[in-house]
Amino acid sequence: MRDPREASVIAVESRRARAAVKRAIEAGERTPLVVALRAWREANSAEASLRVTEFLGSIGGIGAVKVPRILTELGISPRKRLGGLGARQIEALSGWLRARAPHENEPLHRARLVVVAGPTAVGKGTVVARIRETYPDVKFSVSATTRPPRPGEVDGEHYLFVTEVEFDQLVETKQMLEWAVVHGQHRYGTPRGPIDAALNGGSSIILEIDIQGARQVKNAMPEALLVFLLPPSWDELVRRLQARGTESPEEQARRLETAKVEFDAQSEFDVTIVNDDVDAASEAVVHLITDI
Ligand code: 5GP
Repeated sequence: MRDPREASVIAVESRRARAAVKRAIEAGERTPLVVALRAWREANSAEASLRVTEFLGSIGGIGAVKVPRILTELGISPRKRLGGLGARQIEALSGWLRARAPHENEPLHRARLVVVAGPTAVGKGTVVARIRETYPDVKFSVSATTRPPRPGEVDGEHYLFVTEVEFDQLVETKQMLEWAVVHGQHRYGTPRGPIDAALNGGSSIILEIDIQGARQVKNAMPEALLVFLLPPSWDELVRRLQARGTESPEEQARRLETAKVEFDAQSEFDVTIVNDDVDAASEAVVHLITDI
């Protein structure tokens, strides 16, 4: 049995979280559609636990008289919570929300350039791999590098493996959105063409690059969203670097030196996400593309 005191603390916290969601809708900080989509994607979220009556009541211009009328029209019981709606009710409510404010559909589909960076060994690669698996439609930039391929790496998929001369040419012909020497060794850069093509075609795209590169992207495209992945702690970062065993002890030491400097860059970023759980971190990154 759960301790009743613990249960009441949880109840207070979830009430507070729900109140914050309502306030955000009332203040126009979050659109009702974005809140509803989050509720339907995440069963344990504060959004999902919001009663449909509270949800509709927090939308500007919808008062106590209109709420029951709308619910009857949509075939939804006033006792329901957003997260407890059936497929048909979700369809009805999302259709109603979209029809009510057609302009709100647009930001949901606005193409965004999202840059994921963070200190070495924070698990950027793992988070990105999880997003690729779970959301195959999300586009990723494929970087060019002068580093030789590791076993299992495929040219054109993990990286474009190029020679020093080819890299020079890409830079000289202004085909790189950004580039940097990473860990004092090899050059890595983001080819500009696929980024422009994705954004012009209305698709968001994710870049997984180092911090120097992230800064250059922000300079070139201030509308880019910079995401900083953090490890749960410094000790955990050291442990992850040692555990993956892909670097020699000298290389590990070099990467930890870089990581110390990189930690200090987090204030330059728009969003920080702690990578203590790969699923949660990758979901959080994907939400940045689908939510405004
Ligand atoms: P690795 O050699 O382990 O694949 O990658 C080393 C580092 O290079 C990672 O921190 C990664 O974020 C960074 N990196 C990969 N691609 C790019 C890129 O296109 N530009 C920049 N600036 N860094 C990159």
